[in-house]
Amino acid sequence: MKTTPPAFTRPRKSWGQNFLIDFNIQRKILDLAEIKRGEHVIEIGPGRGMLTRGLLERKAFVTAIEIDPHLVDRIRKEMPSVGPPDFELVLGDALRYPYETIQGPYKVVANLPYNLSTPVLFRLLEEYRQIKMMVLMLQREVAERLAADVGTKRYGALTVTVQYCADVRAAFEVPPSCFRPRPRVHSTVILLTPRSNGRMPVQDESFFLKVVKGAFAYRRKRVVNSLVESGFSKEAVLGSLEKIGLDPGRRGETFSLSEFLELAKEIGRLV
Ligand code: SAM
Repeated sequence: MKTTPPAFTRPRKSWGQNFLIDFNIQRKILDLAEIKRGEHVIEIGPGRGMLTRGLLERKAFVTAIEIDPHLVDRIRKEMPSVGPPDFELVLGDALRYPYETIQGPYKVVANLPYNLSTPVLFRLLEEYRQIKMMVLMLQREVAERLAADVGTKRYGALTVTVQYCADVRAAFEVPPSCFRPRPRVHSTVILLTPRSNGRMPVQDESFFLKVVKGAFAYRRKRVVNSLVESGFSKEAVLGSLEKIGLDPGRRGETFSLSEFLELAKEIGRLV
């Protein structure tokens, strides 16, 4: 049967359309995700199907969410023989997709559009109980922030918030030459494993996240001043630091995740 070749459409910058063209990187991503037959994998932004094909070849059940109708059309034409239940192709915005309706456990594999990586990641982390593993290609700087160690330049509110839900490992870098069109930035593939016991224990999650955000709001200030400027009472902050034996002269970036958890718990008791 003759199939019409897909129409050429110029890659859209606003949708971060830098397509992977390197099969070695495709294989490394799939190997890292340890794709097994019958596993459910969500792919965000299948684009021209580079990762999608590999996932289907490894016999995963794939749900792929793509915002660009031309690309959805192209994939349908290029892969006429695959469909539900092996392959579900959704035309839509990955930020609005009802992930809460997917029965876990599932994996997420994606080469994310650069402008969407943090919002998509936060949306997915809301569903962390259902997610076994995420293998995501991100802009190198964002990946460095997610995987940063305490005390380093890249360590910040984003690091603590994400590491509170998941173990993060930067796996390998991908240069611009592996994409068409070439992006201006380097990329890094990261492996996120949501914590098996759930998020770290904390009584009031939104309060904890507020403390973390407040501690980094004024990076050059000591943590006490940054938190006070962010609306916390000076007495409560100083009292809490003293109670848990932490030096009030320290800056936010020197606090480990467990110190933040202790600090938030203590401030929460005092206010
Ligand atoms: N996975 C393909 C690859 O590796 O070659 C394409 C990756 S490209 C960096 C990002 C893809 O995400 C594009 O296909 C783009 O159209 C799609 N995309 C952008 N914004 C999106 C959104 N809000 N929801 C779903 N897909 C989106």
